[in-house]
Amino acid sequence: MKKTLAVLTSGGDAPGMNACLRAIVRTATHVGWSVVGIKNGYRGLVEGRAIPMHLGSVGNIIQRGGTILGSSRCDEFKTAKGRAKAFEFLRSHRAEALVTLGGDGTFRGAEIFSKEFPIKVIGIPCTIDNDIWGCDASIGFDTAVNTAVSCIDKIRDTADSHGRVFVIEVMGRNTGHIALETALAVGAEFVIVPEKKVSIPQLMAKIQKGIDRGKTGSIVIVAEKDEPGRAFSISKALSKKISRDVRTAILGHLQRGGSPTCRDRNLASRMGSRAVELLVKGKSRMMVGVERDRLVVKPLGVTFGKRRSCDLKDFDLINVLSI
Ligand code: ADP
Repeated sequence: MKKTLAVLTSGGDAPGMNACLRAIVRTATHVGWSVVGIKNGYRGLVEGRAIPMHLGSVGNIIQRGGTILGSSRCDEFKTAKGRAKAFEFLRSHRAEALVTLGGDGTFRGAEIFSKEFPIKVIGIPCTIDNDIWGCDASIGFDTAVNTAVSCIDKIRDTADSHGRVFVIEVMGRNTGHIALETALAVGAEFVIVPEKKVSIPQLMAKIQKGIDRGKTGSIVIVAEKDEPGRAFSISKALSKKISRDVRTAILGHLQRGGSPTCRDRNLASRMGSRAVELLVKGKSRMMVGVERDRLVVKPLGVTFGKRRSCDLKDFDLINVLSI
């Protein structure tokens, strides 16, 4: 009898999830496995919602953002009763393995589940925040950065035309990966990330120095941290000290959606395919990651309770290059 794997997307959606689903379904079919797609993450597993996935069900999705399976956060899966329901559902589909696309919370759920029930699990890191421990690049990060860069290039036109300072907030939860990578790419005058303490006088001095040497517009990138909207308070403080018009822009969910970049699509295809290969070899409780541009396989447990911080060398570089 054909072996069956189930696949779900969980937590925040990330561009490239669909490309990854396509790779999982196509690789599984290639090796003779069946695939069942679980709707809306762990909630679909608990509530019993699934669709059979064939070669055609993942056609024409490689370029689409979001996730065709839907995603959710599901508190019921955190309970033993919820997970027992989830297992019964998987058993009714004769699924013996589960591939989960998501972040460290999703991986933690998968690990607990596979310790309680005879289900093999593999995790694939999907988050625009790029903060998963043990993995240099998660699916969705590159697209989010490219989206932010193209938005900020447009804002720069206005900043320069009107001689304004723009304080622009980007996503990233408690890490500054999106902020730093974006700031470097747009030639920002200053960047504020959770990993580095900076003061308003420091920010002000840098912006004023630029104005004094004849800069027209200035761009300040702010990572949202855990308080979306903090760009407003930074703008307010700055506008009291600077003789220029200070404006605020919050990129928000613009950064999450959209067609994945080539880099994210190909990362997703490689990771999805490797996940199936691992299951075929009987592996479980592993994450497919990437380090120094090569795929790596690590225990899911390495991701628990830790956040990968951004590299502050880039903070200094941004300061030097925007002198
Ligand atoms: P992410 O995977 O992006 O980190 P969350 O932390 O919200 O997102 O986790 C996604 C889902 O994973 C949760 O809604 C929940 O269903 C499941 N999950 C998270 N932590 C646990 C846990 N400790 N036990 C069981 N399930 C969990």
